[in-house]
Amino acid sequence: MNVLVVGGAGYIGSHCVRQLIAAGHNPVVLDNLVYGHRAAVPEDVPFYPTNLGNEKEVGKILRKEKIELVMHFAAYAYVGESVTDPLKYYFNNVAATLHLLRCMIGSGVKKFVFSSTCATYGVPEKMPLVETMPQAPINPYGQTKLDVENILKSLAHANGLSFAAFRYFNAAGAAEDGAIGEHHDPETHLIPLAIDAATGLRPPLQVFGNDYPTPDGTCLRDYVHVDDLSRAHIAVFDQLAKPGAALFYNLGTGTPTSVLEVIRAVEKVTGKTVPHTIAPRRAGDPPALYADSTKAKTELNWTPKFTTIEPIVATAWQWHQANPQGFRS
Ligand code: UDP
Repeated sequence: MNVLVVGGAGYIGSHCVRQLIAAGHNPVVLDNLVYGHRAAVPEDVPFYPTNLGNEKEVGKILRKEKIELVMHFAAYAYVGESVTDPLKYYFNNVAATLHLLRCMIGSGVKKFVFSSTCATYGVPEKMPLVETMPQAPINPYGQTKLDVENILKSLAHANGLSFAAFRYFNAAGAAEDGAIGEHHDPETHLIPLAIDAATGLRPPLQVFGNDYPTPDGTCLRDYVHVDDLSRAHIAVFDQLAKPGAALFYNLGTGTPTSVLEVIRAVEKVTGKTVPHTIAPRRAGDPPALYADSTKAKTELNWTPKFTTIEPIVATAWQWHQANPQGFRS
């Protein structure tokens, strides 16, 4: 299938491009490189550094490349920034997506795979999370993702768009062959910060709160390998053959892992100490978030290859050792 990967130079998008190639599909990347890295995309994959607001150009790309399905990863994802600068998030995550969807409908492209998030659930009452639980985001980032989910439902009904929205838990790790990995600027994620603290590239890690109602007092999260996430995006293709399909899936391993357990995993994998201090809680962090991914497992036959934290950290460490400064471009 000819697949346009919007945000294909970003962390999850670039891993998905490689999984698409491995599965025999033809990815085409559109990425304005605000946060993406050109070097994360293989040279021989068609690449368009276009903004989604440029509907004329995006429409041309859809037609020229005979695109049959669009995957949309391009979004701003800094929760704190979304609170202080919500317009930036509504414009980039919602308005830009509307431009993309209008182009698709205008060009007759009716299959869509969307990066959503467990942040759409807000602070859940029960764990693990299933797809039917109430969605009440507590920050504009989560709200923008929920807004797009709702827009997609309307388009499935009115325009016959078939879509899958994947609600990611904590994407983590790097390509198993070490070719690409996680490089955010600024970096706010636990695993890369812990690795950099261990190697001395960054200051000691701050553990945001150790007084949560969890076994060791630190937050529990569900770390899922980025290649496992990517494989789910491809496993859903068959389901999108039905016009108007409106599908929602949690993607996580279901294994809750605490911040201190992540630190211990980084220490074991790297053989180094992770210097860390206990800091106040970070605003907006729910104590625990982990998935029930039974729906993805049953309907998509999706089985995450990585189910525990150490092997995930090992792939991240492989990438960081070879690329301590991340991508150069
Ligand atoms: N965290 C931390 N120190 C950091 C970064 C993250 O203690 O420097 C904690 C954070 O509070 C959360 C977990 O690590 O409980 C995962 O955070 P991350 O930002 O990686 O992902 P999020 O869960 O926010 O999507």
